Amino acid sequence: MLDVCNPQVMRSLLAEFGFHFSKSKGQNFLTQRWVPERIVRESGIDEACGALEIGPGFGPLTQELCLRASKVVALEVDTTLRPVLKKTVGEFDNLEILFTDALKTDLPKLVAEKFGDLTPTACANLPYYITSPVLTKLLESRCFASVTVMVQKEVAQRICAKAGSADYSAFTVLCNYYAEPKLLFDVPPSCFMPQPKVTSAVVCLKTRTQPPAEIKDEALFFRTVRAAFAMRRKTLLNCLSAGFPQKTKAELTEIMQSVGISPTARGETLDLPTFAALSNALQ
Ligand code: SAH
Repeated sequence: MLDVCNPQVMRSLLAEFGFHFSKSKGQNFLTQRWVPERIVRESGIDEACGALEIGPGFGPLTQELCLRASKVVALEVDTTLRPVLKKTVGEFDNLEILFTDALKTDLPKLVAEKFGDLTPTACANLPYYITSPVLTKLLESRCFASVTVMVQKEVAQRICAKAGSADYSAFTVLCNYYAEPKLLFDVPPSCFMPQPKVTSAVVCLKTRTQPPAEIKDEALFFRTVRAAFAMRRKTLLNCLSAGFPQKTKAELTEIMQSVGISPTARGETLDLPTFAALSNALQ
Protein backbone atom coordinates (compact mmCIF):
# COMPACT_ATOMS: atom_id res chain seq x y z
CA MET A 1 0.00 0.00 0.00
CA LEU A 2 1.43 3.33 -1.06
CA ASP A 3 1.85 5.66 1.96
CA VAL A 4 -0.08 8.64 0.60
CA CYS A 5 0.37 10.43 3.94
CA ASN A 6 4.11 10.65 3.44
CA PRO A 7 4.97 14.20 2.29
CA GLN A 8 7.74 12.87 0.04
CA VAL A 9 5.35 10.41 -1.64
CA MET A 10 2.81 13.21 -1.94
CA ARG A 11 5.31 15.51 -3.63
CA SER A 12 6.22 12.80 -6.11
CA LEU A 13 2.50 12.24 -6.87
CA LEU A 14 2.08 16.00 -7.41
CA ALA A 15 4.97 15.95 -9.87
CA GLU A 16 4.04 12.69 -11.62
CA PHE A 17 0.43 13.73 -12.27
CA GLY A 18 0.93 17.50 -12.50
CA PHE A 19 -1.67 17.84 -9.76
CA HIS A 20 -2.38 21.22 -8.16
CA PHE A 21 -4.31 21.72 -4.91
CA SER A 22 -7.59 23.52 -5.48
CA LYS A 23 -8.54 26.00 -2.79
CA SER A 24 -12.08 26.31 -4.12
CA LYS A 25 -12.58 22.53 -3.76
CA GLY A 26 -11.41 22.70 -0.13
CA GLN A 27 -8.34 20.54 -0.72
CA ASN A 28 -6.16 20.04 2.36
CA PHE A 29 -4.66 16.57 2.22
CA LEU A 30 -3.51 14.57 5.26
CA THR A 31 0.23 14.14 5.76
CA GLN A 32 0.22 12.01 8.94
CA ARG A 33 -0.83 8.37 8.84
CA TRP A 34 -2.02 8.36 12.48
CA VAL A 35 -4.89 10.69 11.58
CA PRO A 36 -6.87 8.52 9.10
CA GLU A 37 -5.92 5.42 11.16
CA ARG A 38 -7.40 6.94 14.30
CA ILE A 39 -10.47 8.36 12.53
CA VAL A 40 -11.44 4.93 11.20
CA ARG A 41 -10.53 3.11 14.44
CA GLU A 42 -12.65 5.47 16.56
CA SER A 43 -15.50 5.52 14.03
CA GLY A 44 -16.32 1.92 14.97
CA ILE A 45 -16.51 0.97 11.27
CA ASP A 46 -15.85 -2.76 10.80
CA GLU A 47 -16.45 -5.62 8.35
CA ALA A 48 -20.21 -5.50 8.99
CA CYS A 49 -20.23 -1.99 7.49
CA GLY A 50 -20.42 -0.29 4.15
CA ALA A 51 -18.64 3.07 4.25
CA LEU A 52 -19.39 6.15 2.17
CA GLU A 53 -16.47 8.53 1.90
CA ILE A 54 -16.78 12.09 0.58
CA GLY A 55 -13.69 13.62 -0.99
CA PRO A 56 -10.98 10.92 -1.01
CA GLY A 57 -8.26 13.27 -2.33
CA PHE A 58 -5.12 11.10 -2.65
CA GLY A 59 -6.92 8.39 -0.63
CA PRO A 60 -5.41 8.14 2.88
CA LEU A 61 -8.77 7.72 4.62
CA THR A 62 -9.99 5.58 1.70
CA GLN A 63 -7.11 3.16 2.32
CA GLU A 64 -7.93 2.82 6.03
CA LEU A 65 -11.63 2.37 5.25
CA CYS A 66 -10.88 -0.33 2.66
CA LEU A 67 -8.84 -2.22 5.26
CA ARG A 68 -11.74 -2.27 7.75
CA ALA A 69 -15.11 -2.01 5.97
CA SER A 70 -16.53 -4.69 3.65
CA LYS A 71 -17.36 -2.14 0.98
CA VAL A 72 -16.30 1.46 0.40
CA VAL A 73 -17.88 3.96 -1.97
CA ALA A 74 -16.03 7.26 -2.39
CA LEU A 75 -17.48 10.39 -4.01
CA GLU A 76 -14.92 12.79 -5.49
CA VAL A 77 -15.78 15.95 -7.43
CA ASP A 78 -12.28 16.53 -8.83
CA THR A 79 -11.82 14.34 -11.91
CA THR A 80 -8.12 15.26 -12.17
CA LEU A 81 -7.68 12.89 -9.19
CA ARG A 82 -8.85 9.91 -11.26
CA PRO A 83 -5.39 8.72 -12.40
CA VAL A 84 -3.86 9.46 -8.98
CA LEU A 85 -6.48 7.38 -7.16
CA LYS A 86 -6.00 4.59 -9.67
CA LYS A 87 -2.39 4.41 -8.51
CA THR A 88 -2.97 4.94 -4.76
CA VAL A 89 -6.09 2.84 -4.11
CA GLY A 90 -6.53 0.85 -7.34
CA GLU A 91 -5.50 -2.36 -5.56
CA PHE A 92 -8.64 -2.48 -3.37
CA ASP A 93 -11.39 -4.61 -4.88
CA ASN A 94 -13.93 -3.55 -2.21
CA LEU A 95 -13.74 0.07 -3.41
CA GLU A 96 -15.83 1.98 -5.91
CA ILE A 97 -15.06 5.62 -6.72
CA LEU A 98 -17.73 7.82 -8.27
CA PHE A 99 -16.60 11.14 -9.73
CA THR A 100 -19.55 13.26 -8.75
CA ASP A 101 -20.62 16.09 -6.47
CA ALA A 102 -21.68 14.71 -3.08
CA LEU A 103 -24.22 17.51 -2.70
CA LYS A 104 -25.97 16.41 -5.90
CA THR A 105 -26.00 12.69 -5.10
CA ASP A 106 -29.14 10.76 -4.15
CA LEU A 107 -27.75 9.17 -0.97
CA PRO A 108 -30.61 6.81 -0.01
CA LYS A 109 -30.58 5.41 -3.56
CA LEU A 110 -26.80 5.01 -3.52
CA VAL A 111 -26.83 3.30 -0.11
CA ALA A 112 -29.59 0.91 -1.20
CA GLU A 113 -27.75 0.06 -4.44
CA LYS A 114 -24.22 -0.28 -3.09
CA PHE A 115 -24.40 -1.52 0.50
CA GLY A 116 -27.09 -4.24 0.43
CA ASP A 117 -27.24 -5.87 3.87
CA LEU A 118 -24.21 -4.05 5.26
CA THR A 119 -24.62 -1.39 7.96
CA PRO A 120 -24.28 1.93 6.10
CA THR A 121 -21.84 4.44 7.59
CA ALA A 122 -20.29 7.68 6.39
CA CYS A 123 -16.75 8.86 7.05
CA ALA A 124 -14.96 11.89 5.63
CA ASN A 125 -12.39 14.60 5.96
CA LEU A 126 -14.96 17.10 4.75
CA PRO A 127 -14.14 19.96 2.38
CA TYR A 128 -14.66 22.87 4.78
CA TYR A 129 -16.51 25.14 2.37
CA ILE A 130 -19.48 22.74 2.37
CA THR A 131 -19.31 21.25 5.88
CA SER A 132 -22.80 22.24 7.04
CA PRO A 133 -24.71 21.38 3.85
CA VAL A 134 -22.95 18.01 3.49
CA LEU A 135 -23.39 17.08 7.14
CA THR A 136 -27.04 18.18 7.03
CA LYS A 137 -27.58 16.08 3.91
CA LEU A 138 -25.91 13.03 5.49
CA LEU A 139 -28.07 13.31 8.63
CA GLU A 140 -31.34 14.18 6.86
CA SER A 141 -30.97 11.18 4.55
CA ARG A 142 -31.46 9.04 7.68
CA CYS A 143 -29.68 6.19 6.00
CA PHE A 144 -26.39 6.03 7.96
CA ALA A 145 -25.92 4.33 11.33
CA SER A 146 -23.06 6.70 12.05
CA VAL A 147 -21.38 9.71 10.47
CA THR A 148 -17.74 10.38 11.39
CA VAL A 149 -16.31 13.59 10.02
CA MET A 150 -13.33 15.85 10.34
CA VAL A 151 -14.42 19.49 10.36
CA GLN A 152 -13.05 22.83 11.55
CA LYS A 153 -12.71 22.67 15.33
CA GLU A 154 -15.03 25.65 15.67
CA VAL A 155 -17.76 23.70 13.83
CA ALA A 156 -17.08 20.58 15.93
CA GLN A 157 -17.57 22.68 19.08
CA ARG A 158 -20.80 24.05 17.65
CA ILE A 159 -22.08 20.54 16.89
CA CYS A 160 -21.28 19.32 20.42
CA ALA A 161 -22.28 22.51 22.33
CA LYS A 162 -24.50 22.44 25.40
CA ALA A 163 -27.67 24.56 25.57
CA GLY A 164 -26.91 28.05 26.86
CA SER A 165 -23.23 28.06 25.81
CA ALA A 166 -21.83 30.54 23.30
CA ASP A 167 -21.37 27.81 20.66
CA TYR A 168 -24.97 26.56 20.91
CA SER A 169 -26.83 27.19 17.64
CA ALA A 170 -29.64 25.99 15.38
CA PHE A 171 -27.06 23.64 13.80
CA THR A 172 -26.39 22.10 17.25
CA VAL A 173 -30.10 21.35 17.63
CA LEU A 174 -30.30 19.89 14.11
CA CYS A 175 -27.33 17.56 14.71
CA ASN A 176 -28.68 16.48 18.11
CA TYR A 177 -32.12 15.85 16.68
CA TYR A 178 -30.77 13.27 14.24
CA ALA A 179 -27.78 11.95 16.18
CA GLU A 180 -25.72 11.81 19.35
CA PRO A 181 -22.53 13.70 18.57
CA LYS A 182 -19.24 12.97 20.28
CA LEU A 183 -16.07 15.02 19.96
CA LEU A 184 -13.21 12.57 19.32
CA PHE A 185 -9.92 14.46 18.91
CA ASP A 186 -8.20 17.53 17.48
CA VAL A 187 -5.98 17.59 14.40
CA PRO A 188 -3.50 20.50 14.10
CA PRO A 189 -2.84 22.39 10.82
CA SER A 190 0.63 20.76 10.63
CA CYS A 191 -1.05 17.44 9.64
CA PHE A 192 -2.13 18.78 6.22
CA MET A 193 -0.72 19.86 2.87
CA PRO A 194 -1.35 22.71 2.25
CA GLN A 195 -1.83 23.68 5.90
CA PRO A 196 -5.21 25.22 6.75
CA LYS A 197 -5.30 28.30 8.98
CA VAL A 198 -7.40 26.65 11.68
CA THR A 199 -7.31 23.55 13.86
CA SER A 200 -9.57 20.66 12.83
CA ALA A 201 -11.44 18.14 14.96
CA VAL A 202 -13.08 14.78 14.41
CA VAL A 203 -16.69 14.22 15.47
CA CYS A 204 -18.62 10.96 15.48
CA LEU A 205 -22.42 11.30 15.19
CA LYS A 206 -24.30 8.12 16.09
CA THR A 207 -27.69 8.30 14.43
CA ARG A 208 -30.66 8.02 16.76
CA THR A 209 -33.21 5.29 16.10
CA GLN A 210 -35.78 7.16 18.24
CA PRO A 211 -36.24 10.94 18.24
CA PRO A 212 -34.80 12.53 21.42
CA ALA A 213 -38.19 14.03 22.35
CA GLU A 214 -41.79 13.73 21.22
CA ILE A 215 -42.18 16.07 18.27
CA LYS A 216 -45.64 16.33 16.68
CA ASP A 217 -44.59 18.26 13.58
CA GLU A 218 -40.97 18.06 12.47
CA ALA A 219 -41.18 21.02 10.07
CA LEU A 220 -42.71 23.21 12.77
CA PHE A 221 -40.01 22.08 15.22
CA PHE A 222 -37.23 23.24 12.87
CA ARG A 223 -39.12 26.44 12.08
CA THR A 224 -39.32 27.18 15.82
CA VAL A 225 -35.59 26.49 16.29
CA ARG A 226 -34.64 28.70 13.33
CA ALA A 227 -36.85 31.53 14.60
CA ALA A 228 -35.35 31.27 18.10
CA PHE A 229 -31.77 31.63 16.82
CA ALA A 230 -32.50 34.14 14.05
CA MET A 231 -31.72 37.17 16.23
CA ARG A 232 -29.17 36.37 18.88
CA ARG A 233 -29.49 39.35 21.17
CA LYS A 234 -33.29 39.40 21.20
CA THR A 235 -35.53 37.59 23.68
CA LEU A 236 -37.21 34.36 22.59
CA LEU A 237 -40.55 36.18 22.63
CA ASN A 238 -39.34 38.77 20.11
CA CYS A 239 -37.78 36.07 17.94
CA LEU A 240 -40.99 34.00 17.93
CA SER A 241 -43.01 37.09 17.21
CA ALA A 242 -40.88 37.75 14.12
CA GLY A 243 -41.02 34.08 13.05
CA PHE A 244 -44.75 33.57 13.72
CA PRO A 245 -46.32 36.95 12.81
CA GLN A 246 -49.83 35.49 12.77
CA LYS A 247 -49.66 35.07 16.58
CA THR A 248 -49.90 38.00 19.03
CA LYS A 249 -47.25 38.52 21.73
CA ALA A 250 -49.89 37.78 24.37
CA GLU A 251 -50.65 34.42 22.70
CA LEU A 252 -46.95 33.61 22.38
CA THR A 253 -46.32 34.51 26.05
CA GLU A 254 -49.12 32.19 27.10
CA ILE A 255 -47.76 29.36 24.92
CA MET A 256 -44.26 29.84 26.35
CA GLN A 257 -45.56 29.85 29.92
CA SER A 258 -47.67 26.74 29.27
CA VAL A 259 -44.46 24.78 28.71
CA GLY A 260 -42.57 26.43 31.57
CA ILE A 261 -40.49 28.97 29.62
CA SER A 262 -40.01 32.39 31.23
CA PRO A 263 -41.32 35.31 29.09
CA THR A 264 -37.85 36.90 29.30
CA ALA A 265 -35.92 33.76 28.26
CA ARG A 266 -33.48 33.78 25.37
CA GLY A 267 -33.77 31.14 22.65
CA GLU A 268 -30.18 29.96 23.05
CA THR A 269 -30.90 28.69 26.61
CA LEU A 270 -33.52 26.15 25.48
CA ASP A 271 -32.49 22.53 25.28
CA LEU A 272 -33.90 20.20 22.61
CA PRO A 273 -36.78 18.75 24.70
CA THR A 274 -37.89 22.29 25.57
CA PHE A 275 -37.83 23.30 21.87
CA ALA A 276 -39.90 20.16 21.20
CA ALA A 277 -42.46 21.10 23.88
CA LEU A 278 -42.58 24.68 22.57
CA SER A 279 -43.17 23.63 18.96
CA ASN A 280 -45.84 21.14 20.05
CA ALA A 281 -47.61 23.95 21.95
CA LEU A 282 -47.33 26.26 18.92
CA GLN A 283 -49.17 23.73 16.75
N1 SAH B 1 -9.69 12.80 2.19
C1 SAH B 1 -8.50 13.47 1.71
C2 SAH B 1 -8.82 14.82 1.04
C3 SAH B 1 -9.54 15.83 1.90
S1 SAH B 1 -9.70 17.41 1.09
C4 SAH B 1 -7.51 13.65 2.84
O1 SAH B 1 -7.95 13.59 4.00
O2 SAH B 1 -6.33 13.83 2.59
C5 SAH B 1 -11.40 17.41 0.57
C6 SAH B 1 -11.69 16.55 -0.66
O3 SAH B 1 -13.07 16.72 -1.00
C7 SAH B 1 -10.91 16.94 -1.92
O4 SAH B 1 -10.43 15.78 -2.54
C8 SAH B 1 -11.96 17.63 -2.81
O5 SAH B 1 -11.68 17.54 -4.18
C9 SAH B 1 -13.22 16.87 -2.42
N2 SAH B 1 -14.47 17.58 -2.65
C10 SAH B 1 -14.69 18.92 -2.59
N3 SAH B 1 -15.97 19.21 -2.85
C11 SAH B 1 -16.61 18.03 -3.07
C12 SAH B 1 -17.95 17.66 -3.41
N4 SAH B 1 -18.90 18.58 -3.54
N5 SAH B 1 -18.24 16.35 -3.57
C13 SAH B 1 -17.28 15.40 -3.43
N6 SAH B 1 -16.00 15.69 -3.13
C14 SAH B 1 -15.65 16.98 -2.94
